[in-house]
Amino acid sequence: MSDAQPSPPAIATVGVIGAGQMGGGIAQVCAQSGLSVVLLDARQDAIDKGLSVIGRNLDRQIEKGQAAPGTRDEILGRIRATTDYAAFAEADLVIEAATEREEIKHSIFATLVPHLHPAALLASNTSSISITRLAAGTDRPAKFIGMHFMNPVPVMKLVEIIRGIATDDATYDAVQGLAARLGKTTAVAEDFPGFVVNRVLIPMINEAVFAVHEQVGTVQAIDTGMKLGANHPMGPFELADLIGLDTCLSIMQVLHGGMADSKYRPCPLLVKYVEAGWLGRKTGRGFYDYSVKPPRPTR
Ligand code: NAD
Repeated sequence: MSDAQPSPPAIATVGVIGAGQMGGGIAQVCAQSGLSVVLLDARQDAIDKGLSVIGRNLDRQIEKGQAAPGTRDEILGRIRATTDYAAFAEADLVIEAATEREEIKHSIFATLVPHLHPAALLASNTSSISITRLAAGTDRPAKFIGMHFMNPVPVMKLVEIIRGIATDDATYDAVQGLAARLGKTTAVAEDFPGFVVNRVLIPMINEAVFAVHEQVGTVQAIDTGMKLGANHPMGPFELADLIGLDTCLSIMQVLHGGMADSKYRPCPLLVKYVEAGWLGRKTGRGFYDYSVKPPRPTR
């Protein structure tokens, strides 16, 4: 890097794009760490829902004694929600956490870049899409990095950090510093499809769907088997429904396309559930039906 390049600023204002389960969680933990947050979604109803989920999460933390009483409004007050990209002018870092579709992410970065400060850093929370390719579509590949938070963000300790081929050391150091400030532990992965966590996790979930599809076992048998037999805290179907079946399918498609290996082919039953709009908890039905308590397996 030449001396003329602006060095990355200390991160004080974080932009978050996508107010869904991940973007909302990222906005919450940043605001709880004292950072100013700009939260953008394409849809006002997604913003309203995202803010109300954050409010409920904070209420629950206060009830459990995990957050100080009276801090709810102060934390929410640090989050400015908007549908207008001009609000990112002051952002030191923008983390994209929109739907897991590459064309959506490229179009978001194309809209975002003209509004950014020249020294602002960019990150994607993508679960699987090439950081190098997303970075190459922007004006600042050296300042672009993968910051892969886990779901639910306020609870899960890990942030997987993925360097694109052009990511510079200053950007890497800045996001490592941010992760530490958020109280997270990092694991570094190379930029290959699915990185580390989803390269291992999502094919396991896909295999569980094949096992149901081929009537090897029921949803309940497989979840019980993996919880009590493999000591997993959640069964693969409980976890798939939490992640979102659309996200699981997108990740399998990225693995399948990126490795050109048939062992990553998505199970046809997973495809069918997504086509039906049965996306898991977020739509009330996936491999479990969440309209009843306790949730009832659908197969
Ligand atoms: P989600 O469906 O809950 O939320 C996605 C949000 O993106 C929605 O609110 C939607 O309105 C918004 N959006 C879509 N197009 C947009 C656009 N053009 N501009 C602005 N906003 C737009 O999905 P999620 O589970 O929060 O996943 C978001 C990202 O995080 C994905 O890249 C996903 O792979 C990744 N991720 C998900 C998980 C998980 O467990 N769900 C874990 C880690 C990473």
